[in-house]
Amino acid sequence: MPETEKKAAPAAKEETKMEKIVSLSKRRGFIYQGSEIYGGLAGTWDFGPHGVALKNNIKNLWWKRFVEDREDMYGVDAAILMNQNVWKASGHVATFSDPLVEDMKTKKRYRADSLLEQLGHDPKGMTDQQMDALIKEKKLKSPDGNPLGDVGRFNMMFKTHVGAQQTEESVSYLRPETAQGMFVNFKNVKDSFNPKLPFGLAQIGKAFRNEIAPRDFIFRLREFEQMEIEYFVDPRDPKRVNEIFDVFFDEQQQFLKEIGLNPSKIYKVEVPDADRAHYSKRSIDTEFDFPFGQKELLGLAYRTDYDLKAHSEASKVDLSYFDEETKERFIPHCIEPTFGVDRLMLAVLSDAYSEEEMPVEAGAGEGKSDEKRVYLKFSPKVAPVKVAVFPLLKNKPVLVEKARALYSTLKKELSSVGVHGIEFDDNGNIGKRYRRQDEIGTPFCVTVDFDTIEQGTGVTVRNRDTGKQERMSETDLTAMLKKELAK
Ligand code: ATP
Repeated sequence: MPETEKKAAPAAKEETKMEKIVSLSKRRGFIYQGSEIYGGLAGTWDFGPHGVALKNNIKNLWWKRFVEDREDMYGVDAAILMNQNVWKASGHVATFSDPLVEDMKTKKRYRADSLLEQLGHDPKGMTDQQMDALIKEKKLKSPDGNPLGDVGRFNMMFKTHVGAQQTEESVSYLRPETAQGMFVNFKNVKDSFNPKLPFGLAQIGKAFRNEIAPRDFIFRLREFEQMEIEYFVDPRDPKRVNEIFDVFFDEQQQFLKEIGLNPSKIYKVEVPDADRAHYSKRSIDTEFDFPFGQKELLGLAYRTDYDLKAHSEASKVDLSYFDEETKERFIPHCIEPTFGVDRLMLAVLSDAYSEEEMPVEAGAGEGKSDEKRVYLKFSPKVAPVKVAVFPLLKNKPVLVEKARALYSTLKKELSSVGVHGIEFDDNGNIGKRYRRQDEIGTPFCVTVDFDTIEQGTGVTVRNRDTGKQERMSETDLTAMLKKELAK
C-alpha cells in the first residue's frame, strides 16, 4: 500500500461520477435525501431497502470479524443520550469544536481550515491564531468576495434537554462518538466477565455531529454510524502495546479487503503531532480515493489512559485494573480502531461503480452496441441481492411456476450456508431486468426458459461482470452458487 502525499481532488469528470452515484442510489433504492418531500435536511440521508441490506452486510462482516470470531472482544450497545458529565470529563464540552470564520456581510459561516484549503493554502497543523493571521495577512475573502471575521470556535455537539425541566442540569447531548459509551461501561464488563488484559469492547451505533459544512453525499454527515473498538492493554509492556497497535492496523486493512475495496485506492497516513487529537499518542488514518479526492475513511488511535483516567477522576469510580499475578493495580491504556459505516458504504459504492459499452448479448438481444451498461461491481459478500431468479416471460404460468419453485429451493439451500439476498424478479422484459440487477450489483441472474422445462437442459446463469451466460443443471447451479457466495 503506497504511503504518499495527498493527491489533489480530480477535476470535473470525476464529479459527474459522484452525481451518477447519487442518482443511481436514489433510483435503485439505496439512499434517499433525508426528509426529501419537505426539501430535505442538510447532512441527513435515509437508506432504502438495498441501502439497508448493503449497510447490514458491512456491519455484520465487521461484527463477525471483530467480535464473534474473537475471544477477547465484548459487544455493547450503549445509550445515545448520556449524562452530561460524560462529555465534560471526556473533554468534548470544552474542546470538541471546529474553527469557524464568518463572512462579515452575508453572515454565512465556514469551517476555517476547509475554506483556507479551498483558497489554495495548506492549513494542516495550524492553530486558530495562525489561520487568523493568514487570513488577515493575505486579506483573504469569502467565496462571495466579502471580508472575513476572526477565527472562532464552534462546538459540534447537538445539545438537548432530558425531561420536562429545561435547566443547566437537564442538558444532554446526542453522542458525537460511540467511544464514550464503552469507557463508561468498562467497569461493568470487567466486573461481569472478569477478562484478562488485553481485551476490548466493541460497539456499532449512531453518532451525531453538527458539522459546519456537511457535504459529499454520505461522506460528511450530521447523523452517521460508527463501528468502534476500545481495546484495553497493559501499559507496563510498551513493546506489546505497539505490536497490538500494528496488528489492528493490519486487521483494518484485511477488513477493507474483505468488503472488496481496491487496495490501490487505499493509503496509510501517519497523523503528524500537530494534527492529532489531544488524547492520542499515535494515530494512523486510512484514506481512500473517493471521486472527490483522497480523504479519511477510518482511523486508529492510541488513546493511552486518557479516557479511563478522566472518567475515574470525574466520577470518583475506580476504573483501574488489578493484575492478580503481580498484585499491581493500574489504569489500562487503550487502542481505538474506528470505522465510519457511511464512509465505508460510499467507498464501496464508488469503487464498485462501473460503466462500459454494452455487449450486444448482455441485453439479451435488446442492447444496442453504443449503449452504456452501468453496473456495481460489488464483492458478493456485500451485494444486497446475491442471486435474482427470472422466468423468461412473466405471462407464461409454466415458466413462472418453475422459476418460483427454483427461487424457493435456492433461498433454502443458500440460507443453510449463511447466504441471504435471493430475489425473484419478473418486472418488465428480460433486458430491463438485467439492467436493474446490474445497477443493484447482483452477481448472478438465473433465467428459467422453455428449454428448462421442455428439454430439461437446466437454466441460464448470467455473470454480472462479464455479461456472459452459461447453461447449467439446477444441481450444478446450487453447487456453483454455494461455492461462489459462501466463501
Ligand atoms: P474528519 O476529520 O473527516 O472530520 P474525524 O477525524 O473527526 O473525521 P473521527 O472522530 O476519528 O473522525 O471519527 C471516526 C470515524 O467516523 C471517521 O474515520 C469517519 O469514518 C467517521 N466520521 C466522522 N465524522 C463523520 C461525519 N461527519 N460523517 C460521516 N462519517 C464520519
